[in-house]
Amino acid sequence: MIDLVLYNGVVLTQTAAPPAQAVGVRDGRIAFVGRSADALNAATAATARIDLGGRTLIPGFNDAHAHVWKIGHLLTTMLDVRRVDSVEDLVNRVRRFSGRLPADAWLLGRGFNEASMRERRAPTRDDLDRAEPNRPVVLTRTCGHIYAVNGAALARAGIGPATKAPAGGVIDRDESGRPTGLLRETAMGLINQVMPPPTPADYEAMLVAALRHQLALGITSSADCGVSPQLLEVYRAVDARRGLPSRVNVMPLRRVDGVPKPVPLPELFASDMLRVDTVKFLADGGLSGATAALSVPYRHVRSNGVLRFPNGELRELCAESHQAGWRIAAHAIGDVAINQVLDVYEKLGPHRRGFAHRIEHFGLPDAAQLARAAKLRVIAAPQTIFIKTFGRNFRSYLPDSFLPRTYPIRAMLDAGVRIALSSDAPVVEDDNPLVGMMAAITRLDEEGELIAPRQAITANEALYGYTMGGAIASGDEANRGSIEAGKWADLAVLSANPLAASPEALPHLAVDMTLVAGRVVFER
Ligand SMILES: [Zn+2]
Repeated sequence: MIDLVLYNGVVLTQTAAPPAQAVGVRDGRIAFVGRSADALNAATAATARIDLGGRTLIPGFNDAHAHVWKIGHLLTTMLDVRRVDSVEDLVNRVRRFSGRLPADAWLLGRGFNEASMRERRAPTRDDLDRAEPNRPVVLTRTCGHIYAVNGAALARAGIGPATKAPAGGVIDRDESGRPTGLLRETAMGLINQVMPPPTPADYEAMLVAALRHQLALGITSSADCGVSPQLLEVYRAVDARRGLPSRVNVMPLRRVDGVPKPVPLPELFASDMLRVDTVKFLADGGLSGATAALSVPYRHVRSNGVLRFPNGELRELCAESHQAGWRIAAHAIGDVAINQVLDVYEKLGPHRRGFAHRIEHFGLPDAAQLARAAKLRVIAAPQTIFIKTFGRNFRSYLPDSFLPRTYPIRAMLDAGVRIALSSDAPVVEDDNPLVGMMAAITRLDEEGELIAPRQAITANEALYGYTMGGAIASGDEANRGSIEAGKWADLAVLSANPLAASPEALPHLAVDMTLVAGRVVFER
C-alpha cells in the first residue's frame, strides 16, 4: 500500500537510473521511482496525491557543515550585524538593541566583517563603549573566530594589559599594551568562561527555529559542527521526544575555548533524526578574517594566521577518538593546518567501523595535499558560498600564489576527493543551497570578480555535492542523499529544474514544498 504519490514532475534522482516523473512513498520511505502512470496505478483510494505539475523533485538538500544552534541564536535572541556596513552604524544598532534588553543581560551579537565596513576595520572596545558602557557586549566576527568586546566584558573576564593570551590565541593590543577589545581564536575562551551560557530552553528554541528556517530552503539534513556537552544533552532530549523537525548530524567538540581540559568523548548515538558519531576539531582559524594558518604571511596583515593546536595534542585527541570508533571532522583551511591534519590522519591506521575522516573547509590545499587526501579517502566539506560572500576578503588578504587555489573544488573532484557542499551558516547569512550552487558554477563574488575560475564545477556536480555528498560525509548514504527505493522520503519540490536553469537564475528558483519522511513539513 502506497501512502503518497508525487507525480507529473521532473525527478532528479542523483542516481544513474533513467529519468523519472514520479515517486511513491510508504512508511516514510521511498517505495517507487518511475513513470507517473505506473505510480498512479499503484495508488489506492487511501493514497495521498501531489501533482507536481511539471515542477522538479530533488532529494532534500544536505547542509553538511552548518552551526544549527548559532543560526537559531540569530533567529531568536542575538543581534544580527551581518549587513552592517560601517562602524558608526554598528554602534547605533548596539545602542538601540541594548535599550530593549533586561538590565543584567549581556548583549550578544554576530556577523561583523571589517572588509564590508566603510572604515575597513573591526569595531574596538572604544567603539562599543560609546554604544554601551555598562553591560558586557560581545560581538562575534562573521567567521566565528574573533570577538570584539567592550570594556565591561573585558573587565568581567579580568583581561587587562598584563593578561597573557592562552596558547593558540591572540589578545590584540595598541602600542601602549592596552587590549583593543579584539580577541582571536582560543583567546575568546577568556570571555566564554564568564559569559552566562544559554539555558536548555534557550537552546531548544534556537534548534527548532534554525531547523524550520532550513526546511524553508529545502534542507532536510544538516549538521551542527561543534557542540558543547550541554547542547548535546538538549539534542538528545529533544530527539527522545521526537521534537526534531529534520535530521541533524551533531558533532561534539573535544576542545571548547575557555575549558581547560579536553571534553571526554560522549556516547556514540544514532536515531532516525539524530546522529552523534563525528567529533569536531579546529586546527586553524578562518580565511575571511586572516586567521587560517598559512605558510606565508597574509597581505595587509602582518601574520601567518593561527594554528590552534601548537603541540601534539591534536594527534592524541584524534587517535583516542579514532580508536573509540568516531569519525573525525577537522577544520583546516590554511596549507599549514591542512598538513597538520593530513599528518595526523596518516598515522591513525584503519578505522574499525570503516569510517572515512573529514576535513572541514579545506580552503587552500595544494596538488600534493589533494593527492594525499584522496589516498587517505578524506571527505572534504568546502563552502562554495564563501566565494560569493568573502571573495573580497580573499582578494584583499591572500597572497597572489594562493588566490588561484582558493576553495579548489574542480581540483578536489579531479584528484578523487569526495566533497560535501555546505554553508557554514551563520558564517554566511545566505545559506540557500541554490546560491551555493550558483557560486560553485560561476565562481563570482559579490562585486562581480572571478575567484579561481578554473575551479568551477557543473550544476549537476554541485547538486550532488549538496545532496549525496552530505549523505556520504555523514556516513548515512544508505538512507538519504538520493531518490531511490528504500531511502527516506526526504524531498524538496523546486519551481523549476536547477540543471536546466542558467546559474544566475538559481537563486530565484523557489522551494515550493519540503518533505521529511514523506510528510510535508514546509509549503510555500
Ligand atoms: Zn564552521
